[in-house]
Amino acid sequence: VVVEDVPAFDGTGVLADGTGVALLANVGGAADAVAAAEAGAQGIGLFRTEFCFLDRAEEPTVAEQVAAYRGVLAPFAGHRVVVRTLDAGSDKPLPFATAAAEENPALGVRGLRVARAHPALLAHQLAAIAEAAAAEDARVEVMAPMVATIDEARDFAAACRAAGIRRVGIMIETPAAALMAASLLAEVDFVSLGTNDLAQYTMAADRLSAPLGALNDPWQPAVLRLIGMVGEAGRATGKPVGVCGEAGGDPALAPVLVGLGVTSLSMTVRSLARVAAGLRAVTPEDCRRAADAALAATTAAEAREAVAALRR
Ligand code: PEP
Ligand code: MG
Repeated sequence: VVVEDVPAFDGTGVLADGTGVALLANVGGAADAVAAAEAGAQGIGLFRTEFCFLDRAEEPTVAEQVAAYRGVLAPFAGHRVVVRTLDAGSDKPLPFATAAAEENPALGVRGLRVARAHPALLAHQLAAIAEAAAAEDARVEVMAPMVATIDEARDFAAACRAAGIRRVGIMIETPAAALMAASLLAEVDFVSLGTNDLAQYTMAADRLSAPLGALNDPWQPAVLRLIGMVGEAGRATGKPVGVCGEAGGDPALAPVLVGLGVTSLSMTVRSLARVAAGLRAVTPEDCRRAADAALAATTAAEAREAVAALRR
């Protein structure tokens, strides 16, 4: 058994020079949120709301949704909580929201596409989020999953603002969204990279397929280049760019992501301490060097090795 010497997470995400990088938690409900707050997370970077309703045949009422959302907001008074609207479909079918069987569900009506097909579903959820936000002291932000076009982002932002939600973002999970990041950022306040889906769609490799695991890797140069484009767009517009896919919890990748322009990392609670320790050991200049080294690589293995070599 290897026991790694990682100090407990003290609740701060900083580089060696004191530059802040918010370290946030991914949660699926109230129990996760309590655990995240106890672990010292600085907020929630991804609340997967669909996890609250996976077993439901009927759409949950607004009152039921308000109760579920308040359970996540309550432990984070004064902190940022990013609520993602229902990401139904594909690997997470919701009986009350997703269409009948599709030939290619990962490329089908999923995420925001479901909301566009059922505007009332989105309206009810946004009303519930706004009501939960009004009742709790967390700083609530709302983002949409699986965005591919500017129109989708614009319409989503309008629906959020009509519901009284002031901070609106979208996830960058498709290569289309990464390529259009600057234009998307003109429509919203922030973006968050869903690297699990971004890798899946960039590499055309089902994220649930074990034999394709090597393709589904955020260290793949093609994925890193897309992340870099989004980071560039964030720098150019001065708007935050988060990562909330599994990549955010990889301590070796964290400096690369920061060097590419990422300003917050959201992850499973158990990764917080290790990522915080890794970031505390590097300067912004180290991060830029790590990003350059990773971008210069032509394979995922080369990118990992090039970044590891900088630490030796
Ligand atoms: C992602 O795709 O990286 C993401 C964070 O969303 P999910 O894993 O819920 O699809
Ligand atoms: Mg996703």
